[in-house]
Amino acid sequence: MSSTSAGMKQLHDLRIKLREISDQLEKGPRQIAARKQLIEKKKEELEAQRNKLKQTKIAADNKNLQLKTSESRIYDLSGKLNSAANNREYEALRSQIAADTMAKSVLEDEILEALEKVDAVQIEVKKVEIDVTAIEKELQTLIADVQAKEAGLKASAAALEAQVSEAEKVLPPDLVPQYRRLVQAYGSDALAPVVNKSCSACYVSLTAQVYLELRAGKTRFCTCGRLMYVPDED
Ligand SMILES: [Zn+2]
Repeated sequence: MSSTSAGMKQLHDLRIKLREISDQLEKGPRQIAARKQLIEKKKEELEAQRNKLKQTKIAADNKNLQLKTSESRIYDLSGKLNSAANNREYEALRSQIAADTMAKSVLEDEILEALEKVDAVQIEVKKVEIDVTAIEKELQTLIADVQAKEAGLKASAAALEAQVSEAEKVLPPDLVPQYRRLVQAYGSDALAPVVNKSCSACYVSLTAQVYLELRAGKTRFCTCGRLMYVPDED
């Protein structure tokens, strides 16, 4: 391997390491943001469930109120039975009481249903509350974890950046501007090793001429734009 190829390979390896560190540095805040978004969504869900619980309780209370009215009506009608003026009035009162009692029984069933619904919604509310607490706890752990790693990762990135700058000295100065543009566009993929006499980024076969020039330590860009180098094994 020519010293240029060796230097380019070293530069490429360093750029790959730097990208890994940068990826890790970006991953933490991204995970935190995603978790925060999830908490917001869960809180909205909780709010909706709490509102539903309130409405369900109001509906059950209203039915209870109707039941009390119905009970006192039946009580009043029953009181009037003894003072009925005649049979017809008596029978009319009795059938009214029977109808009201039937309606009351339906109402009682409805109240039971309404109370079951209140219980069910209450369970849902509790579930979402537990979810929110769990995700908030996870978030705290994640934040602590990300913060604990951040300084080390930043130090590694700074050290690698210094090594990259040093390794970039292998590049002929006139190629540096184009190399910078490539790095902007492709990151560590700005460099591509030649594998089986082809560019490993686009798989185009090199002409014998270009291949020999690369082996001799010249610097060449592929038609795909990457800066090529020939590693030892090719
Ligand atoms: Zn290529």
